[in-house]
Amino acid sequence: MVSKIKVTFLGTSAQIPTARRNHTAILLSWDKENILIDCGEGTQRQFRRARLNPCKVNRILITHKHGDHIFGLLGLISTFEHSGYNKTLYIYGPKGIKKFLENFLGLNYVKQSFEIKIEEVSGKFFETENFYIEAEKMEHGIPTNAYSFVKKGQIRIDKKKLKKSNLPSGILLKKLKQGKDIVYEGKKYLAKNLTYKEEDKKISFVLDTLMNKKIVPFAKNSDLLICESSFDDELKDMAKEHLHLTAKQAGEIAKKSNSKKLILTHISQRYEKEKNKLFDESKKIFKNVVLAEDFDSFEI
Ligand SMILES: [Zn+2]
Ligand SMILES: [Zn+2]
Repeated sequence: MVSKIKVTFLGTSAQIPTARRNHTAILLSWDKENILIDCGEGTQRQFRRARLNPCKVNRILITHKHGDHIFGLLGLISTFEHSGYNKTLYIYGPKGIKKFLENFLGLNYVKQSFEIKIEEVSGKFFETENFYIEAEKMEHGIPTNAYSFVKKGQIRIDKKKLKKSNLPSGILLKKLKQGKDIVYEGKKYLAKNLTYKEEDKKISFVLDTLMNKKIVPFAKNSDLLICESSFDDELKDMAKEHLHLTAKQAGEIAKKSNSKKLILTHISQRYEKEKNKLFDESKKIFKNVVLAEDFDSFEI
């Protein structure tokens, strides 16, 4: 599987949406997975405007239950109901989210035509042969998670070494890819000599949180670090009081975690006319930074 992971920003505002920025929602698409991270109000229309089909979503990761991250769930699920959605919808979130969403979505008295499974998660909570998703607790006054999606590097055949070995293609190579040594015409070939492992690809989502010790190790070596930057450094005391990060702190997290690219989001209406303030502040600390706009997409 060599397809790229695509991340689309459907909403990039903080608590109050603006004409340009919708409430938080980010779509990660890879292979058969369409994972939505948070679902602020109006997210389903943002899908339409991005010419994406919301019914392809199969998992939703909720960071926390503040309205700007969940008010769109009700409408999205209602649309699923009216669109013949016929798979299980998995919703993951921090401690307490199950009961909260059951009430918020009226799941105990409105019968859905499809199954919704809500799980409270921490640590590595979902894994397949090809990827895993993990959660880490953040500090935001109420239970809050950050998430990472990691696509595991696959074992690939080193074509140059293969050519020298004179091995025929086909079934034997499949075994090498599975890490198994093979014997061909009486000679043994070790898998480790003819294969290499691709690097993992990691995307981390650090949304609402106060600066804390867990962020840097959790975001370690991210290819994409998506990080909230609700305030600028001049307002760092206010950021602390409201349990949020500044753009400067986002830059520091990117640098210390050895991330490759930083994308700033959760942008306050305060910066509508001076968004460069946040970007410049981060860039002083970490060069490869972008400030996300609604409908921006990135591939890795
Ligand atoms: Zn928020
Ligand atoms: Zn919040």
